[in-house]
Amino acid sequence: MKRLADKVAIITGGARGIGLATATLFAAEGAHVVIWDINEALGYAVVRNLIDEGGSASFQLVNTTQMEKVLLAALHVRDTYGHIDILINNAGITRDASLLKMSPSHWHQVIDVNLTGVFHCTQSVASYMVEQGFGRIISASSVVGIDGNYGQTNYVASKAGVIGMTKVWAKELGPKGITVNAIAPGFIATDMIGSIPEKVIQSVMARTPLGRFGSPEDVANAYLFLASDEASFINGAVLRVDGGISL
Ligand code: NAD
Repeated sequence: MKRLADKVAIITGGARGIGLATATLFAAEGAHVVIWDINEALGYAVVRNLIDEGGSASFQLVNTTQMEKVLLAALHVRDTYGHIDILINNAGITRDASLLKMSPSHWHQVIDVNLTGVFHCTQSVASYMVEQGFGRIISASSVVGIDGNYGQTNYVASKAGVIGMTKVWAKELGPKGITVNAIAPGFIATDMIGSIPEKVIQSVMARTPLGRFGSPEDVANAYLFLASDEASFINGAVLRVDGGISL
């Protein structure tokens, strides 16, 4: 039996990176995957591949910072499938600069996507989950949302905020049959970290007991676990997926 058989799973930022690995794994585990992303070309290409491989998948052009778009997209998913079981709040961006150099625009861009976008998607989908008395909501935080990081005031604020919202929603939605959890990846080999200088890469490797960056699949496996029936008593947790870098 596939672990997500017939579950409807919305994955934000599913067009590439960790979201793509998650869409691929969830489709292989029997879920109807719905990708919400701003990258239309990549999003449709991913969906075509998933369908070619025998999965069930669709794409909606959704900028998670726009509440109206998110509401309409959620309504469409519910009308198409009749239920929404899983929301993976995975879309995220970085605009790094040290405190004294951070522009207001870079502050707002990151907060809009990483924090407000997660609020929009969760609020839109949670109403359907409450009606059906079941749901799994998992959001991408980061180890830096727990530990802080040089040059990431905006990103760290957003990822710490995701942890706070996760705990609130775990309390509010738990009694309605919905679990809400977060994952906190360490350094994962995706385009997002492509601009990191070689010196920093070496230092990260040296500080990680497992001696490597994580793969998108490492994180997808954590999302899958928290979305699966095996995690039915886990609520309000923050699961580090970081090779031990924080130890
Ligand atoms: P990525 O940049 O490779 O992919 C992000 C995806 O999100 C892209 O497809 C992009 O188009 C989409 N996206 C961006 N803004 C959007 C918006 N407003 N609406 C809809 N989609 C949008 O990133 P990734 O490395 O795969 O990271 C995925 C998540 O994991 C992010 O939330 C990130 O903060 C988090 N994370 C990543 C790392 C890492 O090392 N890569 C570490 C910790 C946490």
